[in-house]
Amino acid sequence: MPYFSGGKSDSFGPLARYLPPTPEGIARAFLAEHIRAGAWVLDPFGACPRFSVEMARAGARVLVTASNPINRFLLDLAAHPPTLADLQAALAELSAARKEDDRLETHLQALYLTQCLQCKRELPAESFLWDSRSGRLTGKIYNCTCGAGGEQPATAEDEQLAAQWSRADALHRSRALGRIAPPEDPHRPIAQEALAFYPPRAVYALGTLINRLDAIQTSKERRRCILALLLWAFDAVNSLWPHPIERPRPRQLILPSVFRENNVWMALEAAVKALHTEHPPIAHTLWPEEPPESGGLCIYEGPLRNLAAELHEIPFRAVMGVLPRPNQAFWTLSALWAGWLWGYEAVGPFKRVLGRRRYDWNWHAEALQALFTHLTKHLPAGVPFFGLLTEPEPGFISAVLHAAGQAGLDLSGLALRGEQEPLQIHWKTAKNWRRARHPLHPHRTHNILRQILATRGTPLPYIHLHALALSAFAVQGVAPAPNETLAAYDTAIHTALQNPEFTDLENRSTPETGTWALSQWKNLGMFEPMPEP
Ligand SMILES: [Zn+2]
Repeated sequence: MPYFSGGKSDSFGPLARYLPPTPEGIARAFLAEHIRAGAWVLDPFGACPRFSVEMARAGARVLVTASNPINRFLLDLAAHPPTLADLQAALAELSAARKEDDRLETHLQALYLTQCLQCKRELPAESFLWDSRSGRLTGKIYNCTCGAGGEQPATAEDEQLAAQWSRADALHRSRALGRIAPPEDPHRPIAQEALAFYPPRAVYALGTLINRLDAIQTSKERRRCILALLLWAFDAVNSLWPHPIERPRPRQLILPSVFRENNVWMALEAAVKALHTEHPPIAHTLWPEEPPESGGLCIYEGPLRNLAAELHEIPFRAVMGVLPRPNQAFWTLSALWAGWLWGYEAVGPFKRVLGRRRYDWNWHAEALQALFTHLTKHLPAGVPFFGLLTEPEPGFISAVLHAAGQAGLDLSGLALRGEQEPLQIHWKTAKNWRRARHPLHPHRTHNILRQILATRGTPLPYIHLHALALSAFAVQGVAPAPNETLAAYDTAIHTALQNPEFTDLENRSTPETGTWALSQWKNLGMFEPMPEP
């Protein structure tokens, strides 16, 4: 299988730190080889807006299903990027909105006022630094016109200002929750836990902005821009910004030991620049309206299962998508953000995500298997399915390949490159498929691993050995017993690797960090110098 090369992945776009880092150009390269322009492609995940839009730009008619309203908004923004002029005008409208006698901008900036340690001028801080264990304000970051600034120690005045916001905090929090989960809502306690990842000052500032939303009279496009700026700020001002790490990728709601409390108004200003791209808009519609034959995006507002029975009506030439990974932080915050942007009703069934407590690979495999089963059941046999698995790790690979195998997708190839680069997985939908299930026998696993290394003829990092072993298991119908978990795959592989026939060239304490070779290669003098992977 060829590996489709891509360019850089987007680490700056909206909410990029939660989205799969997908190199640009891979979708286009696959489509150029497999699909003619105007053909229908199904993206059943909607997990990576940029990937879906790239397919549409390449001339495909892409039906993308997305149950997360935040993902749908990101798709909308990627398909139809706001112009710089509209974003600037949206910011100006927010700035000019009133809070009592003040402009909203002045009011919000005043929340973060501090004094320059050098020239004693008053100015808004960019961030305050908090030690989450002691709960103390320890530092601040600002840039003064006198040239002083950067990271400085917090003063008693800074602490006093911050303490003001803690006093009225309960009321502000209760209001901020009202838009996502009213008092009687069973999901309220979990929404409350998510809101705990916002400092008191941010809760007040965001609440003030959200309250102005309904009063602002403006065009539809300006309003869309205002919502986009707010969404950017929602993520920029939570406590999931460890200091001094530059680009964290949060997956769970865990308070960093030192976090930045970022200035809300400055986040809105930064959003203008961040949300602006040079990409021209593409055609995009809401299901069931079809995009033009020249290509475009059709967004289905819901999970694939709600659309499954209608899938056979569309002549899909391919299924393509970036495989989602469980992300408790993003999914929980998405429910909160959707409530803030569109209100309680608009969050709809997606709010159930708040009730979800399990985010492990076994749960994920079950969810993926259910999704894949809709594809095998409702699409004709032989439709190619190209999946991109980003940030590969053993549990993720096991979950995906196991789920696909159990759902009856035929694995037709797996392409891999660097250890950090996405796996490219090729399946085909299949019919009349019987669920053969051979046990994960140690002898069989041993043979598979030997075969992989012998065929490749070169030492492999564990992650690649794991991926290739899981593909072999899928092709041969080998799976853990129904009462076992995905961990049975790891156990089988690790146990087999203990055989003296295999050598870890790096001699690591755990097999998963090693680079594996056949011991017999030692005698052939293959290890000096080490071959390129
Ligand atoms: Zn100064």
